[in-house]
Amino acid sequence: MWATLEQIIDRLKQGRAILVIGHAQPDGDAISSVAGLVTVLRRYGLSASGCIADDIPWYYKSLPGADLIASPRELRAHSFDTTVVVDSSDIDRIGEADVLFEGDVPDVTLDHHRTNRGFGRLNYCDPDSAATAMIVLDIARALVPVDRELAQILLLGIATDTGFFKYPSVGAHVLEAAAQLVQHGASIQRIASAVLENRSLNTLRLLARMFDTITLREEGKVAFGWVSKEALQETGCTDQDTEGFVGEIRALHGVEVAILFVESSEGEVHVSLRSKSFVDVSEVAAALGGGGHARAAGCSFKKASLDAVVDKVVTAAVQGFRKDARR
Ligand code: 5GP
Ligand code: MN
Repeated sequence: MWATLEQIIDRLKQGRAILVIGHAQPDGDAISSVAGLVTVLRRYGLSASGCIADDIPWYYKSLPGADLIASPRELRAHSFDTTVVVDSSDIDRIGEADVLFEGDVPDVTLDHHRTNRGFGRLNYCDPDSAATAMIVLDIARALVPVDRELAQILLLGIATDTGFFKYPSVGAHVLEAAAQLVQHGASIQRIASAVLENRSLNTLRLLARMFDTITLREEGKVAFGWVSKEALQETGCTDQDTEGFVGEIRALHGVEVAILFVESSEGEVHVSLRSKSFVDVSEVAAALGGGGHARAAGCSFKKASLDAVVDKVVTAAVQGFRKDARR
């Protein structure tokens, strides 16, 4: 059932051994909201552990919070009485972390994706929140003092999910929250330098190869590019290194919809969709089994060829573009 934040907080207070899970292929907000909630619960005196199925990308590891997140294997021997899933619009997003509460649904979900249908016992989802870390900040304010470390952890999700304070989700409320966190001692520069100014030369070479694939449709309003498994291998990169690539496609003049395809391993393709001003890409992603927000969404394919996924997704995105252009 859908719950208020007060009901969620009451439920969390009853937990004796709390497990906080974020989505696989973690981004800054997944790391921030898991590590932030674990920190808040521990400071409040509760026992809490954080878990994410895939590895934390290396460029987040210099920031506080990453060390509070374990893999499902590391937590397998523990038992938990309360499971919280954050920043995930459906249960498939948590990947192999589902082994930690077999066959069951999570007790609590906290999220901000429009496509979330509420898959836990108690669910809170605010699509107007710029980041799940904003919701965790509200919980923090209700329970504990926000010190410099917690502020730094929570600022990560807010900064990364807003494209460093430039997406339409950024209103005065977001800037006020960020200002408060900075007042508590957090540094935006520290996050920007870890996330934005930390690309390896290999990653730049991979980006150059992706640029060469860029293809336009609908008179340049729809643009897509891809990273094949071979391109990853030949440049010595992994799929983690493609963070931010889709933003480079969206940055192209005149583009409304940008799509990036990453073939992470044989038969596995992750699709990132972005729009600039009017196409709801969450609808396109949801129709393909994924989800997300109006201006940033994604979906994944298993056992599919890169070519087939490109064809299928570009066709759906062009349809979505035409539909929203008529509105
Ligand atoms: P990204 O393109 O950065 O992977 O994801 C953009 C947005 O879409 C994020 O908010 C993310 O949570 C959501 N998203 C990405 N991939 C998937 C997916 O496979 N399934 C769902 N439900 N959401 C996704
Ligand atoms: Mn998020």
